[in-house]
Amino acid sequence: MAMMYVYKFGNGKADGDGTMGTLLGGKGANLAEMSGLGVPVPPGFTISTEACTHYSSHGRKYPKLLQSQIDKAMSHVEKIMGRKFGSRTKPLLVSVRSGARKSMPGMMDTVLNIGLTEETLPGLIDESGDERFAYDSYRRLIMMYADVVMEKAAGIERPEGQGIREQLERILEEKKQERGVTEDTALSAQDLQELTQTFKVRILKTLGKKFPDDAAKQLSGGVGAVFSSWNGRRAVEYRRIEKIPDDWGTACNVQAMVFGNLGDDCSTGVAFTRNPATGANIFYGEYLVNAQGEDVVAGIRTPSPINNDSKNQANRRMKTLEARYPAVYKQLNNIRLRLEKHYKDMQDIEFTIERGKLWMLQTRVGKRTGPAAVRMAVEMVDSRSIDRTTALLRIRPEQLDELLHPTLDPVEEKTARVIARGLPAGPGGASGEIVLTADRAAELAQAGKHIILVRNETSPEDVHGMHVAEGILTAKGGMTSHAALVARGWGKCCIVGCASLDINLESNSVTAGGVVYHEGDWFTLNGTKGNVYDKNIGLVTPNLDKDKHYKKLMKWADQTRRLKVRANAETPEDAAIARRFGAEGIGLCRTEHMFFDPERIRAMRELILAKEDETRRHAVMKLLPYQRKDFEGLLKVMEGLPVTIRLLDPPLHEFMPHGGDQVAEIAREMGMTEAEVRSRLSQLHEFNPMLGHRGCRLGVTYPMVTEMQARAIFQATASLVKKGKKVLPEIMIPLVSTQQEFLHQEAIIRSVAKTVQKETGVRFKYLVGTMIELPRAAIRAGSIAEHAEFLSFGTNDLTQTTLGFSRDDIGSFLPEYLQKKIYQNDPFQSIDELGVGELVQMGVERGRSTQPGLKIGICGEHGGDPDSVDFFHRTGLDYVSCSPFRVPIARFAAAQAAIRSEQSALTTKPKRIAKKKQVRKIKR
Ligand code: ADP
Ligand code: MG
Ligand code: MG
Repeated sequence: MAMMYVYKFGNGKADGDGTMGTLLGGKGANLAEMSGLGVPVPPGFTISTEACTHYSSHGRKYPKLLQSQIDKAMSHVEKIMGRKFGSRTKPLLVSVRSGARKSMPGMMDTVLNIGLTEETLPGLIDESGDERFAYDSYRRLIMMYADVVMEKAAGIERPEGQGIREQLERILEEKKQERGVTEDTALSAQDLQELTQTFKVRILKTLGKKFPDDAAKQLSGGVGAVFSSWNGRRAVEYRRIEKIPDDWGTACNVQAMVFGNLGDDCSTGVAFTRNPATGANIFYGEYLVNAQGEDVVAGIRTPSPINNDSKNQANRRMKTLEARYPAVYKQLNNIRLRLEKHYKDMQDIEFTIERGKLWMLQTRVGKRTGPAAVRMAVEMVDSRSIDRTTALLRIRPEQLDELLHPTLDPVEEKTARVIARGLPAGPGGASGEIVLTADRAAELAQAGKHIILVRNETSPEDVHGMHVAEGILTAKGGMTSHAALVARGWGKCCIVGCASLDINLESNSVTAGGVVYHEGDWFTLNGTKGNVYDKNIGLVTPNLDKDKHYKKLMKWADQTRRLKVRANAETPEDAAIARRFGAEGIGLCRTEHMFFDPERIRAMRELILAKEDETRRHAVMKLLPYQRKDFEGLLKVMEGLPVTIRLLDPPLHEFMPHGGDQVAEIAREMGMTEAEVRSRLSQLHEFNPMLGHRGCRLGVTYPMVTEMQARAIFQATASLVKKGKKVLPEIMIPLVSTQQEFLHQEAIIRSVAKTVQKETGVRFKYLVGTMIELPRAAIRAGSIAEHAEFLSFGTNDLTQTTLGFSRDDIGSFLPEYLQKKIYQNDPFQSIDELGVGELVQMGVERGRSTQPGLKIGICGEHGGDPDSVDFFHRTGLDYVSCSPFRVPIARFAAAQAAIRSEQSALTTKPKRIAKKKQVRKIKR
């Protein structure tokens, strides 16, 4: 059969359906689906992603069959509409719309009104009886076409403010000034006609090419632009950030135009089936009367609310769609309910009303804030629209971050002065130095600055700057503007439509309330309220205990997961936070952090500078009371839960001064000469401290350190047990690579335990285990597990030692490695499954073959990374341990991992059955 590149939809029928996103792109698949459901959708057809892939890989040539398939589909649309493309009477106009598999807000641009030419224009005027409308459509076509097809898709990049679209917009602006009007809608047919002529002249002058006044040329230009924009610079950049593969390609939709700009009984709008910011089950949206297409998203005029629930500061006095066209609103609301019921998820819909008739132009799963995602998922389970598994899979673990998101310190905020108000488009608080262009934002963020990106409105050109900013602030645009959509998708703090800001790019300044601010001045945003402050306000973390949706969801997650989640913490305060976030123990308490206050560091230095064991022991024992108190505090907070305490790990020079002026002071304190101190310091110098005298090597050469720490832990334990507390200390020996190292340290620990039990008369339980953070340890895990009572993978060091990458020095090459795809991900963020992961797997297998059921965990940054958590689940670990603020994310990721591996176990089974059947068939 001939390859099918074109899929028709419309008139209650469709060649494709909603499941065909890979082939038809999200937009095309959903247009087909809606059409099949009988929802009113203007007829059209989708050119598949396969045509795009062909186009990209064949030097911008279309597949042979394409043109005839397009012609056929076009006559189908013509028949339904009773019009003809390119005809002088009743001309058919179409839109050309791109749509990839995954929605990429604004990346690929749409061209409306294709097919309008000097020749077809009179036909449209005749038929609509509205000359103004026809010229308005024509000037829009010229603007969009010049921008999208003739400039962007041609790869022409101009300095900010000099793009063809901006030039034409300035001409439009001048025309409005000349006429003394502020809104596009106030321009007359005559004005608009003049504009189209001026536009054409400017286009020829700027681009050196004529605007094609020919329907067929416009169409093929439009389709080509959609396909080549897939490889445009910004699209490529967005895909890199969002990790979307380059070879997916985009589909192209050609659809009969319906008109929202045919007078005051027409409009265009965008809505969400539930509130995307809060998740409330309330219809939420905006619309513009007598407007077309992107006007709402582009923030050209302030849109009106569709109903009272959608009102906000900026639009509360405007007439709602519900009040203006009650019958249409009712129909729209019915479609909303139907679509949600059908898709079982919140939808983001685009619609147009032409002379009182409603048309749906798009539906897709809507972006939402983290809190909204949680609320919707839980409420949809409660209303039996979806099951728990679906709810758990629907939320990205990272989205929970927003519920843990910092908000502004309410006390500080109260006393701060609001300098401007806008619409609350992205949650939480953010502060930083203001920057007015995306490029500058990227540059300053690179230099480590906190940035608030301030723009009139944002466009796909700004994505890189938006990504690095702490917060985004725009002067124009509504809740469905580009800035709002992108920020919401990323869970970034964002305020839009802050109309009182006056942004001046020439002087690089912003004026608000009569005050002029310059790049580098601090702003703080409250993205939940929409308030802007002109100072740096502190941030605080929210109270999850009161969020009933979150609590319910996390209960489901906890019932689903198998992996336990612990936290890395060393202070009672952090441990308390971790417990509140649901940590089931401490997986890593780093003791070296306990040695840095002045009293303690002096004792450490004495130890380091001492020449004999006796003085060393004397020095280190000064630390005993401090350490006992530390451990008692920590064990008490974690009562009833295991606490893994790692013995001293870092190289000793970390405790010594680096500046020369401190040497004299230390010499005085220690009763040594400066020369003696210097000579000891130079002895301590290591060429590669990470691979030097550290970890258990310290304990082996200075056993008194291990002894002191073990004693402190056991005395704290005994004292708590005596008070009736249940404490479960687990002592972890770092950087072991052989069984002998382990045995050496274990012997010290167990003998101290015996002594303390005798001295105190208290019996207590404890475990002695080790970290696996060297390749040799993973290889020898079978032997180490003959004695260790638990293993914990230290994946930070294991990554460093396996890859030979120093984590502190990757800055000079890793970015390029990632860009060149030599590594797909930063191996310190997401575990390198094929390398480091293989060692983990080996360690688990060998460890458990010696000691079945051996308790094994991981501590290290990877414990809070959802992809890594998935891997650790598959590898059969008992727990992951991560920083306290990642605990909820890890709990949730662990639940998803459990569901996914169960699902993949289920789907592999039927395959096996299918194979068997095949075999039987052949036999027969
Ligand atoms: P995006 O991917 O940026 O949302 P769309 O292809 O959805 O781009 O087009 C943007 C807007 O253009 C739509 O929301 C709709 O308002 C308008 N539009 C697109 N096609 C048509 C059409 N056939 N008739 C009327 N308006 C259209
Ligand atoms: Mg767009
Ligand atoms: Mg759209």
